[in-house]
Amino acid sequence: MSKKKFETRLIHGDDPSGNPGALPDPTTGVSPPIDLSTTYRRTDPRDDSEYIYSRTNNPTRQRLEARLCGLEDGYAAVAFASGSAASMALFQALPAGSHIIVTEDAYYGTLLQLNNIVANLGHHVTAIDTTRIDEVEHAFQDNTSLVWLETPSNPQMRVSDIRRIAALTAQRGAKLCCDNTLASCVWQRPLQLGADFCMHSSTKFFGGHSDVTGGVLIAREASTLLDQVRYIQQVGGAVPSPFDCWLLLRSLSTLAVRVRHQTRSAEQIARHFSNHPHIEQVLYVGLTDHPGHALNQTQMHAGSALLSLLVKGDASTAIKVAQSTQFFAQATSLGGVESLIEHRYSVEGKTSLCPPNLLRLSVGLEHANDLIEDLEQALATAHV
Ligand code: PLP
Repeated sequence: MSKKKFETRLIHGDDPSGNPGALPDPTTGVSPPIDLSTTYRRTDPRDDSEYIYSRTNNPTRQRLEARLCGLEDGYAAVAFASGSAASMALFQALPAGSHIIVTEDAYYGTLLQLNNIVANLGHHVTAIDTTRIDEVEHAFQDNTSLVWLETPSNPQMRVSDIRRIAALTAQRGAKLCCDNTLASCVWQRPLQLGADFCMHSSTKFFGGHSDVTGGVLIAREASTLLDQVRYIQQVGGAVPSPFDCWLLLRSLSTLAVRVRHQTRSAEQIARHFSNHPHIEQVLYVGLTDHPGHALNQTQMHAGSALLSLLVKGDASTAIKVAQSTQFFAQATSLGGVESLIEHRYSVEGKTSLCPPNLLRLSVGLEHANDLIEDLEQALATAHV
């Protein structure tokens, strides 16, 4: 039988690793159960059975991992209690005294981890503009073990070349991990472009309803780094609860439909505001005048459900716009069915690379015309 298409795999799973957890539940054949037991009865304490204790393995988590692994066409997926726990596990898994290269405008929380926790563990971190291949080439050191790439970056929407950076990273004997949260695997599959790992904050598009926190690392192939990540999951213990895993499984069924619709609306909003009297610039990878558009089309094949608006005026004008919207809730996070708006500079503070007049929009499933009207009235209110 031919390989199942992405939409079918979202619902029926896949079985790339021969793991039965990837297939429909054998009892119901439809919705899987939630395995809440924290421990498993054994006849002999020396048993090396699959399920011993829920932190080390749990059928609901295993089912989620198998489902996510199939979506990125990976070798194995390791689920965590948040996206931050997933990125932290990879950093902790690196050999002592490692050098890490990171996209300078990656998600702010990832940069906080690297600068304020990972650097204190004896690793060295270099933050660079990964859109520039020459900068990437020059950043490698003898002990570089990881390149952490985010493309498009959050919230500046800069686009880096996954294929070329993957090739450079492999030449230097390091590993490449892409944070694929913003793009989502509906539009972009970094492992197919040469990345060794990809990471998602499942809190975002995977969950999709702003009611579950989670994260996942997916590996392209077996490695000692992957083994160490699995060990950190089981022994470090930042695991998602069975109920959270079940919520994610339920939400994944609608991932493609949600993300496609959200992306269409985001495109409509981006186009509407691209020549607007109150807008200085629209940052949206789906617009042909975006500097990363052509490259993005070769790796993401679409815009995204996220865009940033640089409003005319200063930080206070941008804050006023965010305070004046009705359907865009002023809240952090992204990828949910409800649209959100956020003034990132206020959240990130003075060390932020984010322009003070930037507003990040996460476009939900409301009608695009209502969202446009909402932004129009908020811009008019802020500019009177
Ligand atoms: N990566 C990106 C791109 C994010 O936007 C976020 C959260 O906003 C994370 C990672 C961290 O994920 P979590 O909030 O689930 O820890």
